[in-house]
Amino acid sequence: MEFDVIICFEIHAELKTESKLFCPCATKPGAPPNTQVCPVCAGHPGTLPVLNRKAVEQCIKAGLAMNCAIREHAKFARKNYFYPDLPKGYQISQYDEPLCEYGYLEIMGDDGEPYQVGIKRIHLEEDAGKLVHSAKSFERSEYSLVDFNRAGVPLIEIVADHTRNPVRSVEEARRYLEGIRQVLRYIDASDCIIEEGQFRCDVNISLKPKGSDQFNERVEIKNMASFKAVRAALEYEIKRQSDILATGGTVAQETRLFDEEKQVTILMRSKEDAPDYRYFPEPDLVGLHISQELVEKIASQMPELPSVKAQRFVAAYGISKADALLLTRERELSHYFEEAAKHCQDRKRLAIWTIKELFRILNENKITVEQCLVPPQDFGRLVQLISSGEITEKIGKTVLKEMVDAALSSGKPGKGPGQIIEERGLKPITDRGALERLVLEAMEAHPEAVEKIRAGKPEPVNFLIGQIMKKTNGRAHAGRLREIIAEKFSS
Ligand code: ZN
Ligand code: MN
Repeated sequence: MEFDVIICFEIHAELKTESKLFCPCATKPGAPPNTQVCPVCAGHPGTLPVLNRKAVEQCIKAGLAMNCAIREHAKFARKNYFYPDLPKGYQISQYDEPLCEYGYLEIMGDDGEPYQVGIKRIHLEEDAGKLVHSAKSFERSEYSLVDFNRAGVPLIEIVADHTRNPVRSVEEARRYLEGIRQVLRYIDASDCIIEEGQFRCDVNISLKPKGSDQFNERVEIKNMASFKAVRAALEYEIKRQSDILATGGTVAQETRLFDEEKQVTILMRSKEDAPDYRYFPEPDLVGLHISQELVEKIASQMPELPSVKAQRFVAAYGISKADALLLTRERELSHYFEEAAKHCQDRKRLAIWTIKELFRILNENKITVEQCLVPPQDFGRLVQLISSGEITEKIGKTVLKEMVDAALSSGKPGKGPGQIIEERGLKPITDRGALERLVLEAMEAHPEAVEKIRAGKPEPVNFLIGQIMKKTNGRAHAGRLREIIAEKFSS
């Protein structure tokens, strides 16, 4: 039996604001526990919330970036439940009038075509505090401590729409999550650092036999702390539900937890035990009126989004779509490339050098493009020198490594490529006589290679060039060497 899959995410992302959603407490991560707390976010009686304007603007920005309609009237609601990390006994969230609704995010579908995944709503709400258990697992803990630094930090919740182009596979799920995260980082609404809990998701999944239009009950999975965990949870759950359906069983509507250690989902609660949050309008906050002027102002300040930027890169720099997608993955990286491109005419080579050479060095040093401290103009100039034949590719790699190493060890940009090449005598050997002498020397040193070439085998030509390159530290021009060798054997 084969099944179609519907996957719907609910994503929580922490917004980048100086202060919390309803009080002036700082939101900076990493502070000692309970040092960013006040009577408002600690839920003391008699305190009143005051809405953070920046958080509202960030939420609208996220809505616009994900093609949502921004509601003219929005309001806050109380979501009531009891948990030790929730000091007020309710969370201020949005219910029937969220800030943003009816949006979509375009991803690449598994068929290679663009696919607009429906987004039902994006609303603004406050985060809860954080429980810190005495042991690694909750079960083995003797006690838990609570840190209220996170209580009241602004969140947006992005809810996918299961009726409009839902995600259909584990791979699409990955592209959707990465796409949302990329957009939020581009517009500077959230850093989305998963390890810091700034980007968290729950997922609903249901199956139907291929060809049928009757979907089975949805199962919600919570507690996935990484993209890897999401993939494992989805794969496990698709298998579990297909096995039940294939043997004639029925899937129950329930909420399950992903157990990272055992890589399985386990039952958390059935439909009957689902909490009733008794939502009601928040009486301490007035309704929000979002003016058209405000929406237009935010829209006018919106940075270029990654999908648009990738298209522009293809047109402006004549590079491939695949390269453009890689170069626009992060906003800083795309900016670096554009700055470098101002100093390099050969954009195709620049793209390849960024993706192959620069990425490799960044990965090796586990740093971002900003942290490598090599100014983009120096990188652009270096690639230009290679392109114009001033230096060989091999020398280029040596110079790039030197520039990065010098910058990393001194903490500031070092010498430019021109100066390094000059000082280190890395200029290529272009003199015809010198190249000829090198070829003759190599032929003398390797008579067996010469024999083979005479006998009509072409492979030893590369061997001879390799020997000369070794001797000259890559400074000889491979193309010219090849010409000279060809001449020697044709006469
Ligand atoms: Zn506070
Ligand atoms: Mn929520």
